[in-house]
Amino acid sequence: MKKILCLIILPILFLTGCNKNENKPVFDKIIENDSLTVGVKTDAKPFGFINETTGENDGFDIDIAKYIARDILGTDKNIKYVSVNSNTRIESVTSGNVDMVIATMSITPQRQYLIDFSVPYYIASQTAVVKKDSDIYTFSDLRNKTTIIVMGTTAEKNLRRIVPTAKIIGYKTYDEAFSAFIQGKGEALITDDTILSDFIYKNKGYRMLKSKLSQEPYAVGMMKEEDNDKLKQSVDIVITRMLKDGTIKYLEKKWKLK
Ligand code: GLU
Repeated sequence: MKKILCLIILPILFLTGCNKNENKPVFDKIIENDSLTVGVKTDAKPFGFINETTGENDGFDIDIAKYIARDILGTDKNIKYVSVNSNTRIESVTSGNVDMVIATMSITPQRQYLIDFSVPYYIASQTAVVKKDSDIYTFSDLRNKTTIIVMGTTAEKNLRRIVPTAKIIGYKTYDEAFSAFIQGKGEALITDDTILSDFIYKNKGYRMLKSKLSQEPYAVGMMKEEDNDKLKQSVDIVITRMLKDGTIKYLEKKWKLK
């Protein structure tokens, strides 16, 4: 009998929202659970990666998460990191799988329809990496070449603005995109200078183009919540303070960005 009741009641509870956290503002849920779940990258050094020595999530974005957690929860010990990539990060926010995403994510008008953004904490530039001996010097030189991008990033739209007919191939992760590039599946790879610098550092024989495709303002992505922006307000306060008191400058130095 118990089993039958469970079979009937549990699905109803599930459909009607038995989870006590459901429909609660994300901010209240964070406080109640005493835990912050953050979507971060693991393939975008120095912003989000796994530290080989500690085996832990590390990087500029992880430091931002720690400052936010300290402000909201009084500690950075209760952060749960969920690995996201450029293609999954928005859905991880809209589905409620994470409380926020801090993952080299630029503010764009299209994304603002889907999620809320904090004030920006870092401005990257987007460009291309090519082989040192390549004849590509400007974005227009990509007209008759194959360019590699990572799906779900701003790169495709940015390149199409300048070269509408560009031949583009997309990969799900940076690991896949960079290894395809090394194998010669494309003559250029486009993404932010922050991510390309690490590639150039690790792989000899490549250079970045001097010109830039775009400015990429990185911000924290959060669920759009009607009539409730407590979380966005709190995150904005932390980031604004970090920008003013030199913490962001310190992090830029720590991660060798400037
Ligand atoms: N910042 C860019 C974006 O949000 C590209 C880098 C990335 O996050 O993959 O699409």
